[in-house]
Amino acid sequence: MKLSSILICPKCSSNLTKHLNHWHCENCQKTYPIIHGIHDFRCSPKNLEPNIAEAIQKFHQLTYQELLDLVLISKRLPKRINQKIKDYYSKEIERTETMAATFIQDAKIPNGRSVLDLGCGSGSS
Ligand SMILES: [Zn+2]
Repeated sequence: MKLSSILICPKCSSNLTKHLNHWHCENCQKTYPIIHGIHDFRCSPKNLEPNIAEAIQKFHQLTYQELLDLVLISKRLPKRINQKIKDYYSKEIERTETMAATFIQDAKIPNGRSVLDLGCGSGSS
C-alpha cells in the first residue's frame, strides 16, 4: 500500500502528492518536509497557543471566567475539549476537597493532626 493512498493533508484533509523531499497539498498549498526520512506533518502551533500575552495585559480587568475564556481561545481545539478544560478548572474546589479527603484517608492521618502540602497548587495533592 502506498502512503499517498492513506495520507491526507492535516490542514485541509485533501490528498497529498509525494515529492523527493516533501509532501505537497494542491488544495491549500501546504508543504510537509521529509527530513532524514521522517515525514513531518506537523502544522504551525500558532493557533494552538493560548492567548497568554493578552490575558496578562487584561488580568486585573477580567473575572476568572473571562480570563479562562480568553486563555482557551483556540480555533483548533474541539469544543468538547475546551469544555473539559473549563470544567476541570471551574470545579477546582470540589476536586481539591475530594482529593484531600482521599489523601487523608489513604495516609491514615489521625483526626486533628496537621499536614503540610508544599508547592502543590491548590493543595489537592
Ligand atoms: Zn491542504
